[in-house]
Formats: sequence, C-alpha cells, structure tokens
Amino acid sequence: MESRLKLLFPAEKIHLTVDRLAHEIMRDYADKAPILIGILKGSCIFLLDLIRALKMSVEIDFIGAESYGDGNVSSGNVRITKDIDANIENRDVLIVEDIVDTGLTVYVIIKHLKARNPASLKLCALIDKHIHKKLPVKIDYPGFSVKEGFLVGYGLDYNEKYRHLPEIYIMEEG
Ligand code: 5GP
Repeated sequence: MESRLKLLFPAEKIHLTVDRLAHEIMRDYADKAPILIGILKGSCIFLLDLIRALKMSVEIDFIGAESYGDGNVSSGNVRITKDIDANIENRDVLIVEDIVDTGLTVYVIIKHLKARNPASLKLCALIDKHIHKKLPVKIDYPGFSVKEGFLVGYGLDYNEKYRHLPEIYIMEEG
C-alpha cells in the first residue's frame, strides 16, 4: 500500500524543543553526573542531538526493546532485546525515549532498571501520545504532545524506512 507523509514538526521546531529539554535537564542535573540511556532504535537521533545541546558532560548507554512488530500496531508485548552495559547502581539515570504511546515499553524498562538500584531514575520523551496511555508512566521531560497518527522521521521508522528524515511526519495510507 502507498503511504503519504504529512509534515507535523519541521526541523527547526524539533531543534527548539530539544534545546528546551536540554536546558531543563541541565538545570536539574547541574551538580550531578547523569547517565542517559537511549531506547533503541528510535531514540538514537534524538539522544545524539540532546547530548550535543547539553552543555555538560554525560555518559550514554543503550537498551533495546521491541513493542511493535513489522507494522504500525502495538503488539502489546515488550521484549528487551539488548541490555545496558553500564553499572547504574547509585547513578542518576535518565531514560531517553522517542515516543511514549501506551506506556508499556517504558513501564517495562523502568521496572528493569529500578531493580539495579539507581540513585534516581527519570524519563525524557520527545513525543507523548497521552491519549493512548494505559499505564501510570510519568514523563519528567516531555517534548511534544501528539494526539493521533503514526509518526515517522527524525529516527522514527516504518519498517526501517524514513529514520533519516530531519522532520517528523504523520504517515497516511492511501
Ligand atoms: P508503547 O510501548 O508506549 O505503546 O510504545 C512505544 C514504542 O512504540 C516507541 O518506542 C516506538 O518505538 C513505538 N511507537 C509508538 N508510536 C509510534 C509512532 O507513531 N511511530 C513510530 N515510528 N513508532 C512508534
């Protein structure tokens, strides 16, 4: 099926939001040495832009999780496909996610990381699809709030396509 892309957030708007989030994080972690944990793969471009906007030294690590299969409908299951390498005991940890949709992915990851006894654990998400949220997940640093649609671009894919686009689009079928 053919899909059309409708522009939602131009690159400039994304950069302003990333800068705003970076300032909030810098303010709150001024005297700390946080470790940022990106959720693969969708958050990669966001995480890299975010750490460049942070005028402070941070460590990074990645965790892999799968909640969507080969399409654009959530499977309702989350599988951890890659664990972190860092020891996060007594560390200030900030999870960096692309989209919180039902909240299931971050819910499972928060539980997984909490068991490692970090000093603190917070969540930054570029996009909050608040209407779909099924689990009590608090986004400490939310970027955009989006109601509907399947989004691609700026790291977000559809079957591994469109990650390279500098803007965020809503994918429309037909
Ligand atoms: P949740 O577990 O919160 O329902 O879903 C979160 C995950 O689903 C995100 O990490 C993201 O990979 C994927 N996801 C949710 N909504 C979208 C979307 O609109 N576009 C893309 N490309 N991925 C999405």
